[in-house]
Amino acid sequence: MNNPQDLFKKVISHAKEYGFVFQSSEIYDGLSAVYDYGQNGAELKKNIRDYWWKAMVQMNSNIVGLDAAIFMHPTTWKASGHIDAFNDPLIDNKDSKKRYRADVLVEDYCAKIEQKIEKEVKKAKKRFGDAFDKAEFMATNARVLGYYKKINSILKRLGKSLENEDLADVKALIEELEIADPISGSRNWTDVKQFNLMFGTKLGASAESAMDLYLRPETAQGIFVNFLNVQKTGRMKIPFGIAQTGKAFRNEIVARQFIFRMREFEQMEMQFFIKPGTQKKWYEHWKEARLKWHLSLGMGADNYRFHDHEKLAHYADAAADIEFKFPFGFKELEGIHSRTDFDLSQHEKYAGKKLQFFDPEENKNYVPYVLETSIGLDRMFLAVFSNSLKEETLENNSSRTLLKLPAVLAPYKAAVLPLVKKDGLPELAKNIFKELRWDFSVIYDEKDAVGRRYRRQDAIGTPFCITVDHKSIEDKTVTLRQRDSMEQTRVKINDLSKIINKEVAAKHWLKRL
Ligand code: ATP
Repeated sequence: MNNPQDLFKKVISHAKEYGFVFQSSEIYDGLSAVYDYGQNGAELKKNIRDYWWKAMVQMNSNIVGLDAAIFMHPTTWKASGHIDAFNDPLIDNKDSKKRYRADVLVEDYCAKIEQKIEKEVKKAKKRFGDAFDKAEFMATNARVLGYYKKINSILKRLGKSLENEDLADVKALIEELEIADPISGSRNWTDVKQFNLMFGTKLGASAESAMDLYLRPETAQGIFVNFLNVQKTGRMKIPFGIAQTGKAFRNEIVARQFIFRMREFEQMEMQFFIKPGTQKKWYEHWKEARLKWHLSLGMGADNYRFHDHEKLAHYADAAADIEFKFPFGFKELEGIHSRTDFDLSQHEKYAGKKLQFFDPEENKNYVPYVLETSIGLDRMFLAVFSNSLKEETLENNSSRTLLKLPAVLAPYKAAVLPLVKKDGLPELAKNIFKELRWDFSVIYDEKDAVGRRYRRQDAIGTPFCITVDHKSIEDKTVTLRQRDSMEQTRVKINDLSKIINKEVAAKHWLKRL
């Protein structure tokens, strides 16, 4: 699985084969860019959501939760700017009839230049050996500097054209860069058009009285419209945050790459309300805090990087993405946005109601500024899943497929396996299983040879296997097998809970923050 494309194919097939992710309505040939989570996927997804909730809500006394409805009054989306500005620039290829996001075509072009930079670095590393200083090389090598200059000037121009709604220039840029359709190789493009991403629906029984609604394209607005409710009933003092997780819907133009870009997906968002003027400080704070949350999972610091936005959304005065190295390259995983007082001011204007905070220290009312952290749960699932999937060659030259999930996120924390299906072993194993499930999500398996059962658990990422054998009946001990090292130790049945807890409890992982 050295080739990233092979890895990605393997990720998709493994996710299906082991009950993590299925195509939606597969028996009817599926629905494009909509997915269902199977028995193991639902557990992994829930554990990621819980890990986020614990870090954001439970561990921060000034952040509280919310569960707002998906349907919202339609004026919400007028106020938020989504009706007028939630558009993506699309372009069609006249020969292949394929549709693309114009900005993504340009960004992919830049990603290819970045790959060239990586190649230069690799070459130089080989040439200079131990004496190689990557930072110095990047800052001084003429070819690398030239590549960076090119990327910067392209992205700057793209940002400017999009900001000025100059779609003709976006097309001109695509033509100047000689970008071809990635599938057909054709350069026969239509003009660039704007396309609104919101899904419309109707509320009401009869056609005449029905009201046009939208499925929410982000969870954030549910937080803004409840700002005053939560602030007053919770007697919250600024700075404070409101967090929620929930479904969002976008009619994405190009929905590819499995669960990376879906039309129905889940977000985990937190809006942090602050005093105007302090946004820079809080922006830096949340960038750091969110990166630490990712790093706490131990998936490798090299797999993350920040990307500061050139083109800011209409509501933002600063924005950065935390990008993750997916099998198809570095892509956005989470956004951190300084949203100013845009949203609350807009809702004040459209609702005709004050959405302000009385600051006792300042002795005055103001509309708070907002710092947002927004991460896609499904994208996080893909990051964790693809990073964990490994193919290992063992000492006897056989191989095993291993899902090396962070133990805190694993669907099952332990599997209880009687060595054979007789002599009272299943009974003892079931008793252990029944006791452990009070504290952990555990699984019982007695089918097939024990070696095959180990492989099955490796493939779904279970950190521990507990094997019950004849000796267990005599001395109340079992064999505990570790997923990653395959090390087996003899431990007391009474100690199992403590040992497992040490490895899987969120507390131990979050303490790394
Ligand atoms: P992109 O540039 O990839 O379209 P975005 O900048 O529009 O994303 P935001 O509006 O900032 O994304 O949404 C916050 C987060 O929600 C993203 O970082 C991503 O993790 C997730 N997200 C957004 N769109 C999708 C989607 N179509 N499918 C899955 N997750 C998504």
